[in-house]
Amino acid sequence: MTQSSLYSGPVFDMARRQFEGVADYLDIAPDERDRLLLPKRTIAVSCPIHRDDGSTAVFQGYRVQHHLTLGPTKGGTRFAPSVDVGEVAALAVWMSWKCALAGLPYGGGKGGITVDPYALSPRELEALSRRYMQEMIPFVGPHTDVMAPDMGTNEQVMAWFMDTYSMYQGQTVSEIVTGKPVECGGTLGRREATGRGVAYLIGRALETLEINATGSTAIIQGFGNVGSVAALSLAQRGIKILGVSDHTAAYYDPKGLDVIQLDAHVRKNRVLKGFSSELLFDPAELLLQPCDILVPAAMERAITAENASALKCRILAEGANGPTTPEADRVIEERGDIFVIPDILCNAGGVIVSYFEWVQGLQQYFWDEKEVGEKLETAMERSFQKVIRRAERDGISQRSAALAIGVETVRLSKSTRGLFP
Ligand code: NAD
Repeated sequence: MTQSSLYSGPVFDMARRQFEGVADYLDIAPDERDRLLLPKRTIAVSCPIHRDDGSTAVFQGYRVQHHLTLGPTKGGTRFAPSVDVGEVAALAVWMSWKCALAGLPYGGGKGGITVDPYALSPRELEALSRRYMQEMIPFVGPHTDVMAPDMGTNEQVMAWFMDTYSMYQGQTVSEIVTGKPVECGGTLGRREATGRGVAYLIGRALETLEINATGSTAIIQGFGNVGSVAALSLAQRGIKILGVSDHTAAYYDPKGLDVIQLDAHVRKNRVLKGFSSELLFDPAELLLQPCDILVPAAMERAITAENASALKCRILAEGANGPTTPEADRVIEERGDIFVIPDILCNAGGVIVSYFEWVQGLQQYFWDEKEVGEKLETAMERSFQKVIRRAERDGISQRSAALAIGVETVRLSKSTRGLFP
């Protein structure tokens, strides 16, 4: 395969190595691999804004559109200091396999700005969000590339994206983004979709392992959109949340944490810090505490060769994208005692309900929350079954099975359409 200098760095390297492993298993010829892996388009923009102190600052933004074979590209927008073109490209590639596994008519897309959103005032965040979308207008559209939230962005940022795009079109185009507030054309149940999907699959994994949900225990890394909703949904299922962390603090209580209070604290203060001084815990050690369910729901590469052998969970439910390195995967496979729900299966609830939002927006015909929730569970169940069966049939890991289904779906569509011209 071509070693592209544009797509580099540890996160893209992970996506490439995972793909190569699956391409070997699927016996994909070397000359077909670049066409499947390398992104179709990458856009880099500079976004200048006025700071509150009167100075001007310029932030680097990206959008990667991985493939357009099955429909528009679809994927989140990340505001984080770590964002670079390699990270965004890896996330776009994973989105492709995720959408294909879920049977959605999308290729993977992803975007981001290299910025610490916690260091911006609300006015600066709005200015940066709007300028980023304005720079992207020539390259996106409801049938070209549809954005959504990711780390560091939320419903409000999506509302600014949608408003900016619509102002330039001279009409409201709500289907340009998903994950919008309901009052701006969003769907009921989107904000909760990823965390609820994670909790649904954890329920299915517990059933498979014949572990009672009531009284089982969980630890969650990341307390943003995915982590907080997953925590609340697990608690509703009778699961005790022993530990949570974000980038500012980690808390642990063997008696169980009050997640409703934690959620209320984060809604008010944006971060976990300041919740309690007695329950403070070492964030790296938190991942290694005994529990039934460990949910990494923050950033990539949290589970590594260094800590994988020390994990004491029965289920690893990957709320985040790419939380487990290929080296850690090998350790976990050798151990054989952890039920892995791989990221492209586990956190697919977000893009599945984004798809529902897009369909509703295109038709201007809206569903109630019950219908959204039921259709989400049906879609998650279908993918879960496919992955479990494939892993059992071929004696491969659940991650390899999930990736293989995604990759072969895209491959089949490409080969049937043929190569233009
Ligand atoms: P978010 O910005 O709402 O929350 C991110 C959380 O992670 C915050 O609590 C933050 O403090 C925490 N965090 C960051 N660095 C950390 C660290 N070093 N240690 C512990 N915690 C840390 O983001 P989100 O939307 O919840 O996304 C979280 C993950 O889920 C990302 O990997 C994202 O790509 C993935 N994901 C999100 C969605 C979605 O619908 N939002 C869908 C699929 C996958």
